[in-house]
Amino acid sequence: MSYTPMIQQYLAIKAQYQDAFLFFRLGDFYEMFFEDAKKASKELEIALTSRNGGKDEYIPMCGIPYHAAKQYIKVLIDKGYKIAICEQMEDPKQAKGMVRREVIQMITPGTIMEDESLQPKKNNYLAALSGFDDGSFGFAMSDLTTGETRVTLIASWDGVIQEMDANDVRELVLAPKFAPDKKEELAERLNMTFSECEQDNVPETLKHITVGIDQDKLLHPLGRLLNYLVSTQKRSLDHLQQADVYHINEFMMIDLHSRRNLELTHTNREKKVYGSLLWLLDDVKTAMGGRRLKQWIEKPLLNQTEIEKRMDAAAALKDHLLERETLRSLLGNVYDLERLVGRVSFGNVNPREVVQLKRSLEQIPEIKRTLSELGEESLSKYEQEMDPCAEVRKLITEAIVDDPPFTTADGGMIKKGYNETLDQYRDATTHGKQWIAELEAREREETGIRSLKIGYNRVFGYYIEVSRPNLKLIPEGRYERRQTLSNAERFITPELKEKERIILEAEEKRVGLEFQLFGDVRMQIKEQSARLQKLARLVSGLDVLQSFASVSDRNSYVRPQFSKDRTLSITNSRHPVIEKVMRNGSFVANDINMDKHCDLLMITGPNMGGKSTYMRQAALTAIMAQIGCFVPADQAIVPVFDQIFTRIGAADDLVSGQSTFMVEMDEANYALSHATQNSLILLDEIGRGTSTYDGIAIAQAIVEYIHDHIAAKTFFSTHYHELTFLEEKLDRLKNIHVGAMEENGTVVFLHKVLSGQADKSYGIHVAKLAGLPDNLIERADEILTGLEASSSNKIQSVAPVSFDPAGKVEAAATVEEEPEQLALFAEPKHAEEAPALSKRERKV
Ligand code: ADP
Repeated sequence: MSYTPMIQQYLAIKAQYQDAFLFFRLGDFYEMFFEDAKKASKELEIALTSRNGGKDEYIPMCGIPYHAAKQYIKVLIDKGYKIAICEQMEDPKQAKGMVRREVIQMITPGTIMEDESLQPKKNNYLAALSGFDDGSFGFAMSDLTTGETRVTLIASWDGVIQEMDANDVRELVLAPKFAPDKKEELAERLNMTFSECEQDNVPETLKHITVGIDQDKLLHPLGRLLNYLVSTQKRSLDHLQQADVYHINEFMMIDLHSRRNLELTHTNREKKVYGSLLWLLDDVKTAMGGRRLKQWIEKPLLNQTEIEKRMDAAAALKDHLLERETLRSLLGNVYDLERLVGRVSFGNVNPREVVQLKRSLEQIPEIKRTLSELGEESLSKYEQEMDPCAEVRKLITEAIVDDPPFTTADGGMIKKGYNETLDQYRDATTHGKQWIAELEAREREETGIRSLKIGYNRVFGYYIEVSRPNLKLIPEGRYERRQTLSNAERFITPELKEKERIILEAEEKRVGLEFQLFGDVRMQIKEQSARLQKLARLVSGLDVLQSFASVSDRNSYVRPQFSKDRTLSITNSRHPVIEKVMRNGSFVANDINMDKHCDLLMITGPNMGGKSTYMRQAALTAIMAQIGCFVPADQAIVPVFDQIFTRIGAADDLVSGQSTFMVEMDEANYALSHATQNSLILLDEIGRGTSTYDGIAIAQAIVEYIHDHIAAKTFFSTHYHELTFLEEKLDRLKNIHVGAMEENGTVVFLHKVLSGQADKSYGIHVAKLAGLPDNLIERADEILTGLEASSSNKIQSVAPVSFDPAGKVEAAATVEEEPEQLALFAEPKHAEEAPALSKRERKV
């Protein structure tokens, strides 16, 4: 026995869409069969049934109603699945034999266009990658909802991972033969859906996207991306914008760990926007502004001129509160132009959205006027380049009613006066309906039945209804009987039916014509996509700048200056996010002073003293400055940093299963092998993950290496007081510490950063506070003094470790397994050279 023809048809189509759920249209349902059905019933929590498919055993089956498909699609997409939508391509009533069915679109996480599955303030990127023999990669990405398309060349695999992470790529298209180990690594480290596409020649119909690009290494990934879009979307992709070629070295590099550690776009533990830099800086009024802000935070600039341009504009907006408020309220009326244009092109825009487009355009002349009133040079680009797209606005105003329905199904969206034929249909309907109203009055009059009425239903059309007691009043032969109800009868007349025909025909024609006219309007708007997209870019940029201005104003940020000699000098620096969430103004501001003679700050002090906060605020300040925002301080002079590296915290290392120490060493290695003297490095408690001597050895060696070979601005926090002696040996290193004091028997953290090293016997003071016996505390003091004497001798004896730059930290990391390395400390060689450790004032 073989399968029924329908199941055979299903299997043939399913064979082409192995990696997707096949939504197989059957009447009012999308049905799934076999494994798809089993999996979908679990994922969607819907009943699994079965049907006879022609063979002995029943076929597993589950289905979802056609009209509710959106919500189920959202669930599957959110889980990273793909769905092939297979429709009936002919009317089942007219089909001879099997109804023809075809997949009309693939919906995937990286190509979904439905608002339900998208976040307004987040781009939804589909990316493609092509690997080349020289180890480089071509990387292309596109947001189908906005049409933005970008392409770049990346020199290393590390760079690829960072680029994917920075852009939060949702789906990645690879060649079927792409290196499986690399794919696996991506799957492990990032959360995305994978797809395959062999073809990487740019499709003929989409050549406009690649105008001006002739490098094969860029054309290949673009070609792969575009072929995938063509084969999955099966429709116009006209709104895809000309691809923008960018260079990753035009932007500050922030590696994956650092992005997370610094909580740029979401917090580390809860993955929430609340508490991140993005959250802090978000006072945008439009969804597109929200997406642009995220893009800017993900890619701080290196070009000082570009940065200053943004800052000039933000400064101008900050200084003019009144105009800024006007702009904010105008921007508040601008809808998501970018995604609206995307939907116009894609063909799924509804009448209400077209009116939203018009409302948005209506704001532009006022925005331009406000900007020109400001008279600021820095904003003139926005003023001049904003094209109000007046024709589009005029077209929509003339064609579409102000409050149209959501769908085009019943018409009602085209304005009176826009199309003559349409108005005639409407008149026919109106006249017909009027004729019927008059007929009702006349019949009442002539028959004397006051309750006679004319009604309408879908089955019988128009009818005259007379209640039972009045039936006898109807003159013989006046009406034809149609329907009997319990207390009334319904009649018709040939005249009434004739009018009905005219009315219904006109109605049908009206709905059809309105649909067609709406389609025409849509096509005319679509032709202006590029202009509208450019406008959207300017509006979203302006929105981010006003957000910078508003946030900076509200939080008393200052405009930073950029140093040429790598000076990092910040007066009363604050951590912008902690300051904000503390609310009560209790955040303690601290200075950061690293002039050209100081590259490293060695930070000591008790746990919870504020060390890592201090380090992080330096990095966040640098990032805020380089995206063009003001910074949390009274005064700030900052270099333009090329990269930021961090080794902070251990909370999620435990989850990842790697030993904390190995993770520490990995991250340190990454920093040491990529940093330049223009980088910023934050190392928090390096060496903590191993035994004391080991840890000190590694930590000291890393500090020396950075000092001697990199000279990047480095913040190094440690609880190894032994390391503070390095200040005397390394001339560009300074000791600082966080203060704490005792008050009524408890430790109070001052969160004040002071120069010099922290008090060494802090631990003993805490023990004392905890109430340990006096003689025990005395004994501890004795031991500490002894240790200090001997360890200072030992440690001073260690010659600065010199590394071969290429092999550096891997070599250092092996110390863990080689205890004999400790001999370094056991055999002092130059004890006489040791500087005496001065006793610092005790703070606790
Ligand atoms: P450490 O790295 O020294 O262990 P943290 O930087 O993690 O300390 O700071 C511990 C806590 O102290 C932070 O969660 C924060 O609430 C508070 N804190 C840190 N710095 C300051 C400051 N400058 N002003 C006020 N509170 C601070």
